[in-house]
Amino acid sequence: MKIPKKINTYCKYCRKKTEHLVSEVKKHDRGTLKKGSIKRALARGVAPKKGNRGKYGSKPAISKFKRTGAKSSKKHAFKLKCKDCNKTQIKTYKRAKKVQIQ
Ligand SMILES: [Zn+2]
Repeated sequence: MKIPKKINTYCKYCRKKTEHLVSEVKKHDRGTLKKGSIKRALARGVAPKKGNRGKYGSKPAISKFKRTGAKSSKKHAFKLKCKDCNKTQIKTYKRAKKVQIQ
């Protein structure tokens, strides 16, 4: 996916359309497990220091599921800096394998 360096978009601080500078942001990492999988890990007793650690689980470990790690693309986040007020806002686009800022 190619994204231009400068785009005209709405600034919520100026309350109008202005020119923005685009740069990529590294997304904040909130651990390897998502909310749903943490809940499941707790239920199965796999989560650290809880229960029987999956000894009597009826399902295999999450890492042995068929579709684990199936997605090959990532969601990208961008920092948009307003030229008028110099404030930034973060916007996420749809999934893409590669992103180029031109
Ligand atoms: Zn602005």
